[in-house]
Amino acid sequence: MRFHVMTLFPDMINSAMNTSITGRAIESGILSINAVDIRDYTLDKHKRVDDYPYGGGAGMVMQAQPVVDCYRAIVKDNNIKNPRVIYLTPQGRTFNQEIARELSKEEDLIFLCGHYEGIDERALELIVTDNISIGDFVLTGGEMPAMIMMDCISRLVPGVLGNGDSSEDESFSDGLLEYPQYTRPDNYEGLGVPEVLLSGHHANISKWRHEMSLARTKERRPDLYEAYIKNKNI
Ligand code: SAM
Repeated sequence: MRFHVMTLFPDMINSAMNTSITGRAIESGILSINAVDIRDYTLDKHKRVDDYPYGGGAGMVMQAQPVVDCYRAIVKDNNIKNPRVIYLTPQGRTFNQEIARELSKEEDLIFLCGHYEGIDERALELIVTDNISIGDFVLTGGEMPAMIMMDCISRLVPGVLGNGDSSEDESFSDGLLEYPQYTRPDNYEGLGVPEVLLSGHHANISKWRHEMSLARTKERRPDLYEAYIKNKNI
């Protein structure tokens, strides 16, 4: 999977993505991160990439030219066919595990991070295929949303998680939240571990975990629980 990020802050992307599990996957060549500075593509002699909004109002707007030229260079340099271009925006559909699963099947993903009041609409019309939000709130820039998406998508790319880790029974993988987890010691400040987890009886452990997933989802996310029950015709 090749991630390309169009941003005004490439260092932010590189330093975060080159650590931990994603860093390991980059080192082993399963993932690559290509953070490209939009500012490098401006034709303005003062290296400006933003200007005042037509019609007035607060803030600045990122200009179309550097964004579109940056995009064209990424596509050409990396020989990307039918690029999937994700604009991080509070106006997009809300990111979730299902969208992550779908995007993890792409070979290349291009993320476009906005700043200030956003990006000239004409650039978006020309290059964006998907508008995605990470929630109903407004951040200062698209870098953190892009990193959240890349982190989540990476976990679903084969080989990124080590053998011992798995995304298969995590929260949302089958529409339920994950069961509670415990590790050593078996007594911590007087709190024990459910007996079944110490029994070594795999069928009973699976049954307990499924029951806990159901109970936890019903309590914390009744919307997901209802959908699960409906889906399974229970
Ligand atoms: N004026 C824009 C609006 O009201 O829709 C908000 C611009 S915001 C201050 C600057 C940039 O942060 C956006 O262009 C977008 O890239 C990013 N951003 C802010 N909130 C976001 C969210 N919830 N999800 C994804 N990206 C977000």
